Amino acid sequence: MPIVTEDSSKIQVSPGQLFIGGKWQNGADTLETINPATGEVITTFAEAGSREVDSAVKAAREAFPAWRDTPPAKRGKLLWKLADLIGRDRERLATLETIDNGKPYFESGKIDIPFTAEIFRYFAGWATKIHGSTLPARGATFAYTRREPLGVVGLIIPWNLPLVMCSWKLGPALATGNTCVLKPAEQTPLTALALADLIKEAGFPDGVVNIITGRGTVTGAELVKHPDVNKISFTGSVPVGREIMKSAAETLKKVTLELGGKSPNIIFADANIDSAIKGAVNGIFYGKGELCCAGSRLLVDKSIHTQVVDGIKALVAKMQVGDPFDKKTRIGALVSKEQMKKVLGYINIGKEDGASVVAGGARAEMSGEFANGCFVQPTVFDNVNENMRIAREEIFGPVLAVIPFENEDEALAIANNVDFGLAAAVWTSDISRAHRFADKLEAGTVWINTINMFDPALPFGGFKQSGFGRDLGEDALDGYLQTKSIWVNLS
Ligand code: NAP
Ligand code: MG
Repeated sequence: MPIVTEDSSKIQVSPGQLFIGGKWQNGADTLETINPATGEVITTFAEAGSREVDSAVKAAREAFPAWRDTPPAKRGKLLWKLADLIGRDRERLATLETIDNGKPYFESGKIDIPFTAEIFRYFAGWATKIHGSTLPARGATFAYTRREPLGVVGLIIPWNLPLVMCSWKLGPALATGNTCVLKPAEQTPLTALALADLIKEAGFPDGVVNIITGRGTVTGAELVKHPDVNKISFTGSVPVGREIMKSAAETLKKVTLELGGKSPNIIFADANIDSAIKGAVNGIFYGKGELCCAGSRLLVDKSIHTQVVDGIKALVAKMQVGDPFDKKTRIGALVSKEQMKKVLGYINIGKEDGASVVAGGARAEMSGEFANGCFVQPTVFDNVNENMRIAREEIFGPVLAVIPFENEDEALAIANNVDFGLAAAVWTSDISRAHRFADKLEAGTVWINTINMFDPALPFGGFKQSGFGRDLGEDALDGYLQTKSIWVNLS
């Protein structure tokens, strides 16, 4: 057991190891993980080098034939059991998530951890519903298809929703009969390691899930290179996605990429303005803005521009930044010093490019145990031009760019004028306009009069440079299955 709980408020963590073949094993190196709210080291964890990555892939390969042939109902039961254990350990997991990532405890405990369990339950249900079809082939033949697992899949995930991302990948991969090697982000390894213990306790056979920690450039790169990995499912940034695709080309691995976003949130004058203002604020500041689908570009009809910006300012003024365990806190610590530096850098770029800061615009200074924390004020830039860098590049922090527009055509043109296409939201009471936008927006998800809604049944993924392949929903299964056609001669 690498992680030991004393009580729900104080978590003691002992040095971690790698979870390979159902056993805890040493790594090649040791790294530290930091609590970004205090700057203190929480614990050390192991880094898998090429030897350990190879052991994990071998363990997964050895476990594959039996797991593929395990009755689907049994696979489903194990996933359901895992969901129950996550529910049982909700407080402990939420505490680990908050100390490792810096997000408010209410987000970890009330949203992330329950959602993780819900996703495992959803995919548990799919295990028994994967089937091919019979087809009218020519001649005296009987022809049918089978939907088969790929084999060993490598799962590489980011730090913003550490445990949720484990479920987005492991749920469909396991339901379809693949064995897995999962690598969490180096900034947030703790909940994935805690999950390893629950996977063991649930009764998954050894080697079906292997969890290896380490840096992306070391552990992640080795996993992508490994010739015996059949597929890489990646969620993270565009530059790393590009690297992974290049590297995977060498071994012709299958790849799916869930990448970043610069999602437009469009408010028309005929919208319910109060709801739209709340949606604008939640759309960017939930999760400290470290959300791939954050509504980071707010497109507002000129006629209601002042009203909307004033409304946002009033809500932002009430948002408490600070101690992630304080129930009133709405914005916790950004995940790391590097991320804070990046976000503050973009705030400077916005100022230099001539956008006006109407809220925040600096680091949030704290005292006492939080003096070294990575806190940034919720920041709103008004009068942003669509060509400014803060309107085009993913900041991945609590920074909103407000762009006024004249009419529907202009709104649509601005909305689609980025390389990303992950998500978009529209606020209007005109049902025809809402559906016109749903049709024309270049995004994998469109929200109408709401924002940041998720459900395990709804596929999630990108258009354009936000990637390809889908997490969640029935579509997610496609990323972990291959179709075989079988011909039987009847003559
Ligand atoms: P990142 O830097 O791309 O890292 C993602 C993962 O890739 C981490 O585990 C990282 O390891 C690993 N990695 C880094 N370099 C690698 C390499 N050369 N080979 C293999 N693996 C490598 O992304 P992040 O900063 O953690 O997360 C933020 C990004 O994720 C944002 O762009 C956000 O939009 C995106 N995101 C997308 C979705 C979606 O569903 N579309 C959801 C959430 C987040 P280390 O961290 O250990 O170095
Ligand atoms: Mg950390």
